[in-house]
Amino acid sequence: MTDIEDSETDESSCGCKLGRVADKYDLSGLDNDLIAYWTGDADEQLSTRQLATYVNQQILSAALANADIPPREGEIENTYRLLTDDDVSSGTRVQTRNELQRDGVPVEQVESDFVSHQTVYNHLTKCLETELEKPSDEEQLERSREKLAALQNRTEAVTSDTIARLDRKDLIDIGEFNVTVSVTVTCEECLQEYTVRELLDERSCNCQSQS
Ligand SMILES: [Zn+2]
Ligand SMILES: [Zn+2]
Repeated sequence: MTDIEDSETDESSCGCKLGRVADKYDLSGLDNDLIAYWTGDADEQLSTRQLATYVNQQILSAALANADIPPREGEIENTYRLLTDDDVSSGTRVQTRNELQRDGVPVEQVESDFVSHQTVYNHLTKCLETELEKPSDEEQLERSREKLAALQNRTEAVTSDTIARLDRKDLIDIGEFNVTVSVTVTCEECLQEYTVRELLDERSCNCQSQS
């Protein structure tokens, strides 16, 4: 009920969403970990997408600890997957939410505290003024995914506007309509088709990975 974020001004807090949830869940040392993992100073280098998962699992872990749920091996990873993975059925997700709620975890609040990879990226580059000298492979794939998705969205928006304008001027005639843009990449060696997303996720055509 009371907004502690306003009354408590922590010097280390940057005020962005990530800074606020780090304070809220007492994730001390998070900034150093984020920088180390992102820049590759840690044992492994993680992309901002992987770092968002890392942060969100820490949030979930803190929330379970706050509800006095004893930690179990692999539980955080699994629960996080059940809450967020596209491959999980909505029935399973609802069940997971209900169980957490029953165990005293404010699951809606926790989910709304989850951060996106864009938030992680902004926090690293703007709040922590970190830069990557050499972006990792995963980072480069991520930037490309984003760029192409934005392009696709823009094509859809411009097409939609244009069709609507022509329709208003009675130059064309159409009912309610919906514009979909999908870009397909075809491997000429085996004729397998991929959406851009699939190809960037798989990173290799089946015919290439078998050789
Ligand atoms: Zn920040
Ligand atoms: Zn192929």
